[in-house]
Amino acid sequence: MIEIRNVRKSFGPLEVLKGIDLTVAKGEVLTIIGGSGSGKSTLLTCINGLEPIDSGSIHIDGTEVHAKSTNLDKLRQKVGIVFQQWNAFPHLTVIENVMLAPRKVLGLSKAEAEAIAVKQLGHVGLGDKLKVYPGRLSGGQQQRMAIARALAMSPEYMLFDEVTSALDPMLVGEVLDTLRMLASEGMTMICVTHEMKFAREVSDRVAFFHKGVMAEIAPPEELFGAPKNPETQTFLAATH
Ligand code: ADP
Ligand code: MG
Repeated sequence: MIEIRNVRKSFGPLEVLKGIDLTVAKGEVLTIIGGSGSGKSTLLTCINGLEPIDSGSIHIDGTEVHAKSTNLDKLRQKVGIVFQQWNAFPHLTVIENVMLAPRKVLGLSKAEAEAIAVKQLGHVGLGDKLKVYPGRLSGGQQQRMAIARALAMSPEYMLFDEVTSALDPMLVGEVLDTLRMLASEGMTMICVTHEMKFAREVSDRVAFFHKGVMAEIAPPEELFGAPKNPETQTFLAATH
């Protein structure tokens, strides 16, 4: 499980995370919503150790992410992250892109990495695009390739940061369907998203972030149906 305790983080004079407390259980799907600049992306990058924190702690299955002794490469195999956009290597085919990390980081043989890439690309519905170059994929297909690339490391946790925000509206559905599939398979996920319908359907809990504070966290029916926090109410009213 992911245990976040009183995490504070500033960029210069700007305090971006103001004491976040949050526990995500194994198998849970948590979505994070909130306005731009509320600290959602920063929290995700702190969870997998891409950004240091100023105080507090984050433990993943008992390992303290920001402890000096922690092997971050190993931790990041366990915690995959997918961003709004991933720039695949244009001169490598889709399968070669997905094979890269299993080869280099896990040290797998070519045949082993190939088998994993074929499996995960099939899993996200790209089984027919293995030998294609990324530039020939649609935005939705590129995001599914990015998800396959993360899954190729056999992560136990997945962090998704607005993975549909850069997509044409027509392509959003196929990527959300891939996330739904992972959720139904029991993947532990934290999804930052603006897709309220998706958040309502797929989440065990929804957290609303406002100015570096987790202003409210509740099951979706509660957070969307009867939000308690005035800032949540204002935010939700504005997104309808
Ligand atoms: P969100 O994902 O909720 O939109 P972010 O976590 O990206 O918010 O950003 C929170 C605040 O921190 C914003 O004001 C942003 O400009 C600032 N910020 C984010 N990353 C950096 C950085 N690397 N350096 C300085 N400021 C940053
Ligand atoms: Mg963000």
